[in-house]
Amino acid sequence: MKRKFYSELVSTSLDNELISDSCCEKILSSTEIELLPLLDSAYQIRKTYFQNKVQLHILNNAQNGNCPEDCFYCVQAKTATTDIDTYSLKSESEVLAEAERAYQSGAYRYCIVMSGRGPSPKRVDQLANLIQTVKTKYPLEVCLSVGLIDEPAAHTLKDAGLDRLNHNLNTSESHYPKICTTHTYQDRMDTLRAAQSAGLACCSGVIVGMGEQNEDLIRVAKELRSLEVESIPVNFFLPIDGTQLKDTPSMTPDYCLRVLCLYRFINPRAEIRVAAGREHHLRGMEVMSLYPANSMFVEGYLNATGKETSRTFQMIQDAGFTIEANGDISELSHHAKVEKEGVLLKELEVLRPRMGSNS
Ligand code: SF4
Repeated sequence: MKRKFYSELVSTSLDNELISDSCCEKILSSTEIELLPLLDSAYQIRKTYFQNKVQLHILNNAQNGNCPEDCFYCVQAKTATTDIDTYSLKSESEVLAEAERAYQSGAYRYCIVMSGRGPSPKRVDQLANLIQTVKTKYPLEVCLSVGLIDEPAAHTLKDAGLDRLNHNLNTSESHYPKICTTHTYQDRMDTLRAAQSAGLACCSGVIVGMGEQNEDLIRVAKELRSLEVESIPVNFFLPIDGTQLKDTPSMTPDYCLRVLCLYRFINPRAEIRVAAGREHHLRGMEVMSLYPANSMFVEGYLNATGKETSRTFQMIQDAGFTIEANGDISELSHHAKVEKEGVLLKELEVLRPRMGSNS
């Protein structure tokens, strides 16, 4: 593909103009569009708004499992048979201890996540108190993921100091009935609108690889743009035994990176987070996700583990990016010290297998 295609992508995105559906489709599937110039184009936009900074997020599963909903991708769904540890809302002291650890690990944002359809008014008050305490003790941005909420609940949480509400769209409206039957896409949109009407910033993203078509991913990217969400987690579906969606087609690292680039072009000023599944799907090309994305999770995801924090720090620094933290960054350098392994010499049975085995 000619250089002009890539330079037009950059200028269209920087001018905050919308890329056509046919161009989006090409980005995702045309072999004429090469990955490296595409990543370079996405990087130019990322650098304009976020320089070389990377925000790190740490999740706290404040309540796990026993969900009455049937999201087909989720191990916490009532329909999932996966053997997970379930528990009701953690005590205040547990949540505070984990907030302190997140702060000391260099997290920019601390994400409190609860399973369930949505909180009762009593639970909203409890969460509001908890958020107020965390915000008073630690200079962390706090994000809450709590299912469906209405406007009064959103106002209570905003007044308590909540910075952001997370509620993913996950997939397009037309694909939604294929991933969940107990609530609708519209329910999710209503929650985002309630949060915005209370003045809360919104974090809302997508799960790639749940049997959708490219056009579904394009539609979600454009919906998130029209909602002007501040933060977009791009998750790559992790097929876990026991969920209803475990048999899905695999994705290549090339495709996953194209999706991240697409989300950057359509949402140039949004924080794009490479979220669940980065290790599993991007494999050796994981570091390249930093060119379109400017944030990532450390210490794993909801119910799946991730790469060691020290290795993530090392990857970020090796590629010339810097960690944006709320704490003193010099205090964090020890996290990046991955133990260096000595160089081992090959032994004879590796160099000359026949001689090695005869000796
Ligand atoms: S995604 Fe949330 S609402 Fe859906 S089953 Fe899992 S915990 Fe419940």
